[in-house]
Amino acid sequence: MRELNICHIYPDLLNLYGDRGNILCLKQRIERRDIKANVIEVKMGDKFDSNNADIIFIGGGQDFEQDVLLKDLKGDKEKALINAIESEKVLLAICGGYQMLGKYYKTHDGNQMDFIGALDFYTVGAKQRMIGNYAFKTESGIEIVGFENHSGKTYLGSGVKPLGTVIKGFGNNGEDKTEGAIYKNTFCTYSHGPVLPKNPEFADLLIKKALINKYNDDELATINDEFETKAHNSVMNMYINS
Ligand code: GLN
Repeated sequence: MRELNICHIYPDLLNLYGDRGNILCLKQRIERRDIKANVIEVKMGDKFDSNNADIIFIGGGQDFEQDVLLKDLKGDKEKALINAIESEKVLLAICGGYQMLGKYYKTHDGNQMDFIGALDFYTVGAKQRMIGNYAFKTESGIEIVGFENHSGKTYLGSGVKPLGTVIKGFGNNGEDKTEGAIYKNTFCTYSHGPVLPKNPEFADLLIKKALINKYNDDELATINDEFETKAHNSVMNMYINS
């Protein structure tokens, strides 16, 4: 039987607006294909063995939690995360978790947190928060709906590409229409909500990439996505196209 390990980094501290729902969604969608799914929680002080991880997930958190975690992150976890990212592990990071993979985040009141710099971007806090339901389209054509709430404006360097282009909302910074970042198999987005349950195509993309890494075969049975599609479409109709 095929088996995938989902590593949830800082599950207790980085979990905003239902981000943990992404873990439930991944587990469900994996198990519904008769693939075993194990969830491994990695908290502050825990060792993170990235060799054992097939999908790594980091949720969002306020500036406060990011600051609390900084010391722990910059220990062994920094190396393990960089190693995982460079070795093409599948990683999904949301909002505050996304920001922590970049070079730094300077909050609007001047506190600079130097993060792990695994991806080529930086974030600067703005006084006015960027809040609301929003949507974007990935390079590969997937339309993703989500909810954003951040003060940080993220600016991408030349070493990463945006995950997508904003259809409606703010995205990375409210200025250049970019949303999120993609580098190797690392996917970053500002989208809470949680993002995966109402964007099943995106969830399956991550699962397929993890299967290719582990089994060199991304065969994934089709499942009934009636409710997921309804949820996706209702956000599109209520908030995006109205
Ligand atoms: N603290 C970050 C910001 O406000 C991230 C917030 C979040 O994860 N929603 O930009």
